[in-house]
Amino acid sequence: MAGFIDAHTHLFPPEQARRRADLAAADPTFAEMYTDLRAKLADAPALRAAIERAGIDRAVAAGFAFREARHLAEQAEYLLAAASEAPDTIAPLPCLNLALPGWEAEARRWLSRGARGFGELRPHNQGWDPLGPDAQRLAHLAAESGTVLLWHVSEPLGHTYPGKRGGISPAELGQLATLVPEARMVAAHLGGGLSFYLQMPEVRQAIGNIYFDTAAVSLLYDEGSIARLVALAGPERVLFGSDFPLLAPRRQLERVIAELPPDAVGAVCGGNAASLYFGTSKP
Ligand SMILES: [Zn+2]
Repeated sequence: MAGFIDAHTHLFPPEQARRRADLAAADPTFAEMYTDLRAKLADAPALRAAIERAGIDRAVAAGFAFREARHLAEQAEYLLAAASEAPDTIAPLPCLNLALPGWEAEARRWLSRGARGFGELRPHNQGWDPLGPDAQRLAHLAAESGTVLLWHVSEPLGHTYPGKRGGISPAELGQLATLVPEARMVAAHLGGGLSFYLQMPEVRQAIGNIYFDTAAVSLLYDEGSIARLVALAGPERVLFGSDFPLLAPRRQLERVIAELPPDAVGAVCGGNAASLYFGTSKP
């Protein structure tokens, strides 16, 4: 079997972790999610240790949707450096703010230096339209470069939690995927219910470019939710992700494996992420 991959983790440079209070003062979304000191910020050695404990070989490391360019750039530099120190172990996804005039030049700069996509994208927190011309340009850029967009998608119903709102809605993501069908996009957190509409033939046909990850599933959904998602979307469209450091990759991987039909484990827990993010489906 191909090795396991955690397709949804987050890294911050140690310097940003040290400046946590300043970042919270400057950035309302960061403040919402990370003012509470129990909300962990992890660096690359912590990620590598956590996946090693879990028997996971590789990880997709995403950025945070800061509002300011300098905070995004500082984190992007760190993600790219972490990936180059551990080649073929960490796939870096810097984040972008499409409300900033220079976003496209930044995106191209990160791609030229090894970014495997962009995420975790939160358009409404940053104040840009996920269906507007810039968003469509970003989707085309992902398609041209063979990289992936990871979107924060949350549930329109249910309990609230820090960071729930401000991503892209399931309906908006479905519309964007329909507008740019060549772009491969991952809907985080089981896609906030978007998978339900795969049962409509025209929707199923229109959003074949959307994948779903399992990040934070144990905080959101009941047991059986991943198996139901796999039944709806197919094992080739679902990716195991923990949302580390929010949750421990080892426990999450155990939970996902326990829930999945055995013949889906290879694709969901590594194979799909290998071909999406690492350009290979072999171990
Ligand atoms: Zn998220």
